[in-house]
Amino acid sequence: MSDKPILRVAVDVPLSREFDYLPPAGAPLPDIGSRVRVPFGRRREVGVVMAHAENSDVPATKIRRCGELLDSKALLSAADLWLIRFTSDYYHHPVGEVAAAALPSLLRHGKALHPTVERIVVTTGGEQIDTTTLARRAPKQSLLLETLIDAGGDGLDAEQLSEMLPNWRRAAKGLAEKGAISVFSQRADEFDEQLSGAGAAGPTLNAEQDAALGTLRNSNRFGAYLLDGVTGSGKTEVYLQRVRDFLKHGKQVLILVPEIGLTPQLVSRLGERLGVQPALLHSGLSNSARLASWRAARSGAARLLVGTRSAVFTPLKNPGLIIVDEEHDPSFKQQEGLRYSARDLAIARAKKLDIPVILGSATPTLEMLQHCRSGAYRHIVLPARAGGARPPTLQLIDTVRSPSVDGISESLAAAIQKHLLADGQVLIFLNRRGFAPTLICNQCGHIAGCERCDSRLTVHAGSRQLRCHHCGACRPLREQCDECGETVTPLGEGTERLEDSLTRRFPAAVIRRIDSDSTQLKGAMHEALESATLGHANILVGTQMLSKGHHFPHLTLVGIVNADQGLFGTDFRSAERMAQSIVQVAGRAGRESRQGEVLIQTAYPENPFWPTLIEGGYGRISAEALAEREITRWPPFTRLALLRSAAHKKADSHRFLDVARRHLSNAAGDALRILGPVDAPMARRAGRYRAQLLLQSSDRATLHRALRSLRPLLEDDASARKVRWSIDVDPVELF
Ligand code: ADP
Ligand code: ZN
Repeated sequence: MSDKPILRVAVDVPLSREFDYLPPAGAPLPDIGSRVRVPFGRRREVGVVMAHAENSDVPATKIRRCGELLDSKALLSAADLWLIRFTSDYYHHPVGEVAAAALPSLLRHGKALHPTVERIVVTTGGEQIDTTTLARRAPKQSLLLETLIDAGGDGLDAEQLSEMLPNWRRAAKGLAEKGAISVFSQRADEFDEQLSGAGAAGPTLNAEQDAALGTLRNSNRFGAYLLDGVTGSGKTEVYLQRVRDFLKHGKQVLILVPEIGLTPQLVSRLGERLGVQPALLHSGLSNSARLASWRAARSGAARLLVGTRSAVFTPLKNPGLIIVDEEHDPSFKQQEGLRYSARDLAIARAKKLDIPVILGSATPTLEMLQHCRSGAYRHIVLPARAGGARPPTLQLIDTVRSPSVDGISESLAAAIQKHLLADGQVLIFLNRRGFAPTLICNQCGHIAGCERCDSRLTVHAGSRQLRCHHCGACRPLREQCDECGETVTPLGEGTERLEDSLTRRFPAAVIRRIDSDSTQLKGAMHEALESATLGHANILVGTQMLSKGHHFPHLTLVGIVNADQGLFGTDFRSAERMAQSIVQVAGRAGRESRQGEVLIQTAYPENPFWPTLIEGGYGRISAEALAEREITRWPPFTRLALLRSAAHKKADSHRFLDVARRHLSNAAGDALRILGPVDAPMARRAGRYRAQLLLQSSDRATLHRALRSLRPLLEDDASARKVRWSIDVDPVELF
């Protein structure tokens, strides 16, 4: 036995401490960073050994012994454990839950680092079977057999099969007895980097790109670089060159992107140009594929990693560079559970590893811009589009003077007509899915609302349903009012209605709707983006999904319908967000030789936001917004944290926050401002009453000190038992 016989273990439970255990009996002392199975209450949980200790505060008679040791060597390195601890400290979130979030699902559930998989293949005998005849007696067996035959010689693994045919095991038993299939265990596939050559040559960098690259090449040590380049300015070309520098020296590069499903172009471009297959890390992969990428990152077998938010936790053997593409994208912030910002953690991690981090965007957040002003980060600007492409022109359409029918004004319709005739592609953007956001009774004015939320139900015409976009509640769409029985009318428009209206106006055009409803089916997104890229679709209608990083070469007109949602938003970030989404979607227009045109429908053309944006671009909008935030003392000039609670009874949710407020007032001085408790902007959601307490300070340390002393008090307080609560540090939404 070692002289440090106590293990400090991070267990996946909502309590912010580590738990002490004795090492497993008759086994060597588990390494720091390895997983163990531990008894916890009556359950057994997977935990990560965070440290060894000499003694424990738990009395010797009470301390429990670990069960099985799950890793013979450390799974996580000291650097990985540092990131877990840092995340736990910064976001005031239980360390065990952070460790769990940092691991791929199979490892979190105790599977081996190199698991075996069950593989199912068709035998030669099975191939002879006539599936049509079999279908009469055993339809499930027939379906399974056909699926396996379609999959070809390698068959399928159990996980893939479970996705395709959830109850395949019974049928498999029958088929195996007939000798039609064989089931065997195999070691999981390893990620294969598949060197596809030296990589294709790209365009010669222009002077600005060259200068940007020069600045980035100044140092291979820590530095945060904001690559602030207008849409189509060639940011990706700059990344590619810089990535190549590191790959050449055997270093690994981690690229974080908002949503991989939306950026297949980026992934294939990276592979083609660098001659290295990127290992992917995102939720669209099977669990075993994701683990394979994770293993390859950890062992160094994969040099290029591309992933979404949670990929920031991936262990790296030889880290060289981290890139956060589209830094402004809100999806880098997780909005539930562990509410972390992958962008901010990427910066913290790069600093700790002493490697550079590049943050790219055409619409950088005010936080990053302010870091550049203060001199902490380097600001690299690409002011113009690369190659020959010119910036798109922006113009307003006053919907009071040119009223719209089903969301499309006459002026916009005329422009669509003109672009279609000139063989251009058109994108119509509206950040609202469904047919109509409101269903109203013509007679009594009753509006269909959600029973569990303070919200209206959205009309979905295709599926003939009323759906709540907040809790997912759903009911059949009826023609009559629930209250008085008279006829109801859908009011306002969503993407579905726009698609309808465009189909009627332009019957000869191929119209594709791209939103989270139309892309539910596997492969649908990919197919839609391909048809947009190849120019098969003449008109694209969609939500913010269409605004992200796409390069549609034929696109010449962007129409923004109902742009006013953000003008009067209640959140202090409304204007910044709205400018980002308009500039991003506008940036899809005219990316090649043809000039792009952008038309924005608004009922408030006189609002000062518009001339600022149209004449000064995002640069002026962000500069003005920063000046305003400095005066009003909102972030980035102050720091925020939001304490949220939700309960079946409104009083419980407020009482909990009152307790928190009292603790905070006792502990903190004037340097901490406490606002609330107040009802959340949507006070009732999914049947729970929600309230919040906002903490603000111009000094980060003050805020964190207050939260650090608050968390354990709340965990122990009786009022916490009746609520669901969370701490959100640097919230991106205040509701
Ligand atoms: P961003 O990432 O800033 O949106 P990209 O790197 O995707 O920009 O470049 C936009 C388009 O311009 C792409 O088609 C790219 O191939 C092209 N491009 C980029 N840099 C150059 C250059 N120096 N010369 C010619 N074309 C370029
Ligand atoms: Zn609801």
